[in-house]
Amino acid sequence: MSIDLQFDQQHLWHPYTSSLKPLPCYPVASAEGCELILEDDRRLVDGMASWWACIHGYQVAELDQAVQQQLGKMSHVMFGGLTHQPAIDLAKKLVALTPENLQQVFISDSGSVAVEVALKMALQYWQAKAEPRAKFATVRNGYHGDTFAAMSVSDPQGGMHQLYQGFLAEHYFCEAPQTRFNETWNNADIVPMETLLAEHHNSIAAVIIEPIVQGAGGMRIYHPEYLKKLRALCNKYGLLLIADEIATGFGRTGKMFACEHAQIEPDILCLGKGLTGGYMSLAATLTSKQVANTICSGDAGVFMHGPTFMGNPLACAVANASIELLLTSPWQQRVAHIQARLNQHLAACLNLKAVADVRILGAIGVVELHKAVDLAKIQAQFVERGVWIRPFGKLIYLMPPYTISDVQLEQLCSAIYQVMAKP
Ligand SMILES: *Cc1c(COP(=O)(O)O)cnc(C)c1O
Repeated sequence: MSIDLQFDQQHLWHPYTSSLKPLPCYPVASAEGCELILEDDRRLVDGMASWWACIHGYQVAELDQAVQQQLGKMSHVMFGGLTHQPAIDLAKKLVALTPENLQQVFISDSGSVAVEVALKMALQYWQAKAEPRAKFATVRNGYHGDTFAAMSVSDPQGGMHQLYQGFLAEHYFCEAPQTRFNETWNNADIVPMETLLAEHHNSIAAVIIEPIVQGAGGMRIYHPEYLKKLRALCNKYGLLLIADEIATGFGRTGKMFACEHAQIEPDILCLGKGLTGGYMSLAATLTSKQVANTICSGDAGVFMHGPTFMGNPLACAVANASIELLLTSPWQQRVAHIQARLNQHLAACLNLKAVADVRILGAIGVVELHKAVDLAKIQAQFVERGVWIRPFGKLIYLMPPYTISDVQLEQLCSAIYQVMAKP
């Protein structure tokens, strides 16, 4: 039986799409290694890792096996009053991998929820200190998810703020860091945040930021010194620092976590996407004992969150297998190698009229254009060339699985060059 594209067009919403004018969708029958296999047997080299998540590629033997083994025991049980080895193993791994101070783990179902949980932790922290605060500070061009609190701290220009105006909470934004990762640090960069915090710190619960790489809000890569300065400012005013590493975590930027580029410890850390190697939805929010215990010493006496699928054993089992596989793989060499190859292959794009900028860090390659692309048209051109690359707005970007071969990576890069070179 063939995939019913007509039903899809008539009844299914895809991310950020219209029901009146649905964009074309390509039917995927399966995926293996670093390739997506379409229903008509065409193979596309995957440049997206399914939005940062599939860090090891598809149909990975170790991960398949972890799911199957767990299926034989239980797929899910409630986490209220019950516990299980997959969740305990995952918490042990996360506590060991992440910065020293992060010792208390909240496992949830998706990245946006992990951000909601982080924000709730910060609110309850100040509530418990009998000094309630309801504002957050952040930089422009950020992206933290599509649920309401997550949207409220995402870039206010993206359209989401206007759409839900009146309902969406209003927080403090300042200019995003401008100094690029490899440039000489310019201290003027921290001034907007300095000014914002100096003025409003008494009403702010926490600062939330994507360390080093701002993802869906513009694919911007900034200088680690910004994070050091931000950490110092949060310390100065006693504010919590929330690092949203949902996109950057698990090696993507060349470090296990992007915070390591600046050698800082956040007070709260959000993880997701690559956590399960892209097998299923799972996220985690970690915090320190000091923050956790402060929260629970308040009037509420508890941290007030508990999703139905909290600690889902299937997802935890595959997350454990994914982390194990990552740690036993030469991931640093792989990501460094991808970075070198991206530098080599994407540099040529800078000579193209349509291209405004190329930036690369770890296994992330970004080609920024002068004008937004015609998505349906450019998508078809990429598929014709045997690659899966999904641009948004002015940005064409690659974040392939770490297991991508040199030949596949070159195919991705030359497809971008060829498509952008077309008159
Ligand atoms: C994707 C993303 C989220 C949201 O995660 P979902 O699983 O899509 O809810 C939050 N923060 C960052 C930095 C992300 O990249």
